[in-house]
Amino acid sequence: MAKIETPRPIRGTQDMLGETADRFSHVVETFERVRRLYGFKRIEVPVIEPTAVFARSLGETTDVVSKEMYSFEDRGGESVTLRPEFTAGICRAYLTEGWQQFAPLKVATHGPLFRYERPQKGRYRQFHQIDAEVLGAGEPAADVELLCFADQLLHELGISDGVTLTLNTLGDAPSRTAWRNALIEHFAGHRADLSEDSQKRLETNPLRILDSKDPRDRPIADSAPDIDTFLTDEALDFFGTVTEGLQAAGVAWTRNARLVRGLDYYRHTAFEFVTDRLGAQGTVLGGGRYDGLIESLGGPHTPAVGWAAGIERLAMLLDAPQPDRPVAVLVPMGDAAMLMATGLLADLRSAGIAADMAYKGNMKKRMQRANDAGARYAIIMGDDELARGEVAVKDLGMGEQKAVPVAELAAALRIA
Ligand code: ATP
Ligand code: MG
Repeated sequence: MAKIETPRPIRGTQDMLGETADRFSHVVETFERVRRLYGFKRIEVPVIEPTAVFARSLGETTDVVSKEMYSFEDRGGESVTLRPEFTAGICRAYLTEGWQQFAPLKVATHGPLFRYERPQKGRYRQFHQIDAEVLGAGEPAADVELLCFADQLLHELGISDGVTLTLNTLGDAPSRTAWRNALIEHFAGHRADLSEDSQKRLETNPLRILDSKDPRDRPIADSAPDIDTFLTDEALDFFGTVTEGLQAAGVAWTRNARLVRGLDYYRHTAFEFVTDRLGAQGTVLGGGRYDGLIESLGGPHTPAVGWAAGIERLAMLLDAPQPDRPVAVLVPMGDAAMLMATGLLADLRSAGIAADMAYKGNMKKRMQRANDAGARYAIIMGDDELARGEVAVKDLGMGEQKAVPVAELAAALRIA
């Protein structure tokens, strides 16, 4: 028979088992717990959307839309895209599902996203995010609540040390327009010294030059004017209310006047939680206010704010979580014991006791399996024990062993 070659996984995707998977699920479980504390409703949205959902809302000039999207024609000839981010799809759902009636609507979700990027540590083609959004709220209280949520999550994950909240304001429409004009003037004066990418950005998306990583752009970006002198009283007020709220809630932050979001509909609050523990992939969580996005999808003017964080990047920062361990592993020897163990296992699990059964190999192998699983007890079930209606409960930590009547096993394990 011809040798069958096993297909390789797609570059930039990951398979997870063991500690990697435990870290991942610890992030998701913690997120789920904290989002309930904050009253964010769990939602699900499709992984696949019409390409227009992202092209319109993210803008043709962003890296994501111009270079990173997984877009293709489906069999019906429609252009579809694997979601590269959550926000646009959630806004689409907000409009097409009539969720507007619930405004202000606090929602949260997690799942896979797809971007055609160069894979490296902390950067994948299929990656995963947790995401939180408040739709239909223009009040700074929504920004504060989201920032508190993010901050508490990082604390509960035990990774807040060495992670800093960096905050900026992009002002309201008049502030932003005035600042944008001043930036264009500044960058145009240095056009020849800018990187090729930033020369293009000067035409399409000048704010993005501010967060360019190219060393040629850095001095020019660093000497560019801050938004502060262009902020209207209203914009200044909004930012002041957000920072007062953070102060009241005990959330620490630092100002990063270079932090921008490229698109015109971003307003007021922009933020990133950053760390130097992940090399070049230092942003673990990012977000801001996007008051014009829903209009770009054909909806009514709807202020909204949100954030997303890469699960893999958060997972890398964690201390290794405790792996799941069964309380007991049943070790039956012989056919009669095996059948009995099958019933007992179902009873223990129904009683809420994490239990497993070692059914492969000789006694020694089975005991090894119980040890490797990290169980507290091995429940040894041989013909002799069963004849007496008992099992032998071996404490794998202490090494002690005692006989327990089968009927009392669940109770005995629960007390122990
Ligand atoms: P970066 O500057 O690292 O490319 P970004 O600005 O593209 O990030 P966002 O679109 O704001 O990132 O996504 C929010 C978060 O999602 C990031 O802070 C990061 O934690 C995570 N993320 C983004 N792209 C990837 C990727 N390709 N692989 C893993 N995580 C990612
Ligand atoms: Mg990116």
